Amino acid sequence: MEALVQALGAKPFHGRNLLKWIHKHGVTEIGRMTDLSKGLREQLLARAEVRVPEVVFDQPSRDGTHKWVLELECGNRVETVFIPESGRGTLCVSSQVGCSLDCSFCSTAQQGYNRNLSLAEIIGQLWVAVHRMHKPVTNVVMMGMGEPLANFEPVVSAMAIMQNDLAYMLSKYRVTISTSGIVPALLRLKEVSDVSLAVSLHAPTNELRDELVPINRKYPLEMLIPACREFIRGDSRRKVTWEYVMLDGVNDSDRQARQLIRLLEGTPSKINLIPFNPFPGTRYRCSPAERMLAFRERLMRAGIVTLTRKTRGDDIDAACGQLVGRVQDRSRRELRLARVQPGGG
Ligand code: SAH
Repeated sequence: MEALVQALGAKPFHGRNLLKWIHKHGVTEIGRMTDLSKGLREQLLARAEVRVPEVVFDQPSRDGTHKWVLELECGNRVETVFIPESGRGTLCVSSQVGCSLDCSFCSTAQQGYNRNLSLAEIIGQLWVAVHRMHKPVTNVVMMGMGEPLANFEPVVSAMAIMQNDLAYMLSKYRVTISTSGIVPALLRLKEVSDVSLAVSLHAPTNELRDELVPINRKYPLEMLIPACREFIRGDSRRKVTWEYVMLDGVNDSDRQARQLIRLLEGTPSKINLIPFNPFPGTRYRCSPAERMLAFRERLMRAGIVTLTRKTRGDDIDAACGQLVGRVQDRSRRELRLARVQPGGG
């Protein structure tokens, strides 16, 4: 923002005012930003645009979870989910249109990958939740569609705005990035950001993780675990949150619980067991409740804080791994149509 206003001949502090108007006050009409000089406002009106994602679908769930489908340029759609809990409200934000990582149990993966979201499209999701839907967002998790570390710069900048005092003022413990484990990007993240870390682990051995989270073939556990440990080093309040989806007969045995305990030994850890959310065509089933309980008990007995994530919003397909959006470009579809219709388009 400072660079933008400077390029228009104004003092840098006007950039900070601009940030405040848009993100703290939710004002998008440049004409209403009364502490910017008239000249600067005219320049901005001529040269810049404040555009927010359009909410095309606004769906409340029976349990209070709220899903919005946002339409971006080219007709791409992404989903943003607000999850109210006692004393806090978590917004689950998307980072890409689709995803390229192809995890075998995730329905976003089935949609394929189209493109990265821009910084504006990422922070726009929080803007919509706070300023248009008036939701009390106390936490943000980068756990929507996409792999955030595969869209590095825009995600890092968006998380910085979330933390900025002139914008959303969220503390570093309340902004969480979730990654399937792109190790070099994770190490780079440590240099530029101090957000909290969640990692989609889902398996205690390379053999199984190769199958469930294929990026593991490139960055196996012996690279991933030390990188995570490095990420939280220097802050004794920090733990790595490990996400572990419970797949019946695949990763939920007592032996696998023991392997998991051994794998995480020496790493300050918290485990989030996620009941598998099914989707059409999947070959997996969720582990039975008593299996999840027994698995959790084992981890707890080994002294690892283990929570079972409550499934929220599954009646509106807003639960983990159920976000699908619309990955195809409208323009591409129209192009295809134009091609098949002689004389079209
Ligand atoms: N790509 C990032 C961000 C997605 S976070 C990552 O992998 O961490 C969404 C979480 O939901 C991830 O832990 C993901 O593995 C998990 N998930 C995906 N599909 C799921 C499903 N069908 N049921 C339950 N959890 C799922």
